[in-house]
Amino acid sequence: RAAESLHTFRAADLLIERSTVQQPPINLEDLKFGTVFTDHMLHIEHSVTEGWTRPTVKPFGLLQMHPASQVLHYGMCCFEGMKAYAGVDGRMRLFRPQLNMERLRRSARRLQLADFDPQELLSCLKQLLLVDRSWLPAREGYSIYVRPFMFSSANALGVAKPARTTLSVLLSPVGPYFPTGLKPIALFVDELHRRAWPGGVGDVKVGGNYAPTIHPQVEAAARYGTPQVVYCFRESTEHPDHAQFEECGSMNLFFHMQQRDGRRVLVTPPLTGTILPGITRDSILTLARQWGDCEVQERPVTIAEVREASSEGRLLELFGSGTACIVQPVGSLIRSNGEVYTTRLSPETDPGASLAVRLQRSLLDIQYGRTEHPWSVAV
Ligand code: PMP
Repeated sequence: RAAESLHTFRAADLLIERSTVQQPPINLEDLKFGTVFTDHMLHIEHSVTEGWTRPTVKPFGLLQMHPASQVLHYGMCCFEGMKAYAGVDGRMRLFRPQLNMERLRRSARRLQLADFDPQELLSCLKQLLLVDRSWLPAREGYSIYVRPFMFSSANALGVAKPARTTLSVLLSPVGPYFPTGLKPIALFVDELHRRAWPGGVGDVKVGGNYAPTIHPQVEAAARYGTPQVVYCFRESTEHPDHAQFEECGSMNLFFHMQQRDGRRVLVTPPLTGTILPGITRDSILTLARQWGDCEVQERPVTIAEVREASSEGRLLELFGSGTACIVQPVGSLIRSNGEVYTTRLSPETDPGASLAVRLQRSLLDIQYGRTEHPWSVAV
């Protein structure tokens, strides 16, 4: 077992320590995202010399940290975000969870954190969900947000390969992202700050990708009242309008446009290493390609193309995609030069023509088990 535990922990070794504390009931009406946690958490540790400990489901509680823990100084951490849904058949369901496990493994590897078998982590995570299943609100729009995360718990100030890794999973009941329906938001196009660059780590979910996004977000909120910004990329010598859209701080970006020849296209920037390969993004591409009623393209989209499409009434829809919102309609893009690009369709007034509405509905049907689909995995 000792040799094996260097490579991965095993769900068959899982220990369950039950909480004896009774938490007060939660108020579903004002559930703020990521602030309420269930009774238990998963905890596993790895040391380079001894391998992985037995995975343990234990009472939710504080972590003790050495002040020199590498994560506190160098941001050596990565995470995932996924959701567990109460299916209409009464079963708890996850959405394409293997992809989150594999993405976590890729992120951990990029940081030289301990490696593990994604299938084993998924089995442990399901056990945790079963222990806390009474926390899952059986109500449309509600779910348990699942947050796996890993960090270096090595107690050494050297900037070096982490000698210790902690892996944990938290569960947080969450309410509907859109209590009032699919309301479009405005986004600020940030042409100054970069989220990622070629050769960087934009394609993995490491903590260091998120800390620097708060400042641009806070600035844009103060100046333009936008909740998020869109990041762009361009070679510094090019004309500003040649910048290519990348993604938001926590969503991938889709453009539903009409070409000059009248054909409709759904376009999203390609995975060339600077954007996160979103699981919702992949699901949207797959569904839209299956439907086949518009062309689906993964290719660069420049500001110039969107400005032109908008001015000619061909920018039909814009939306972000991610686990939290599934689909977030965007009604307008605001630039620092004062230009604003607006969409022709709105999911509120043109629900029949809106791809965002159709995609949101189809994904929710799969996630809640109303449509049988291999993407929805019973726990
Ligand atoms: N981009 C970034 C930067 C993100 O943090 C997220 C959220 N994980 C996404 C896109 C959307 O990814 P997913 O669809 O897998 O949630």
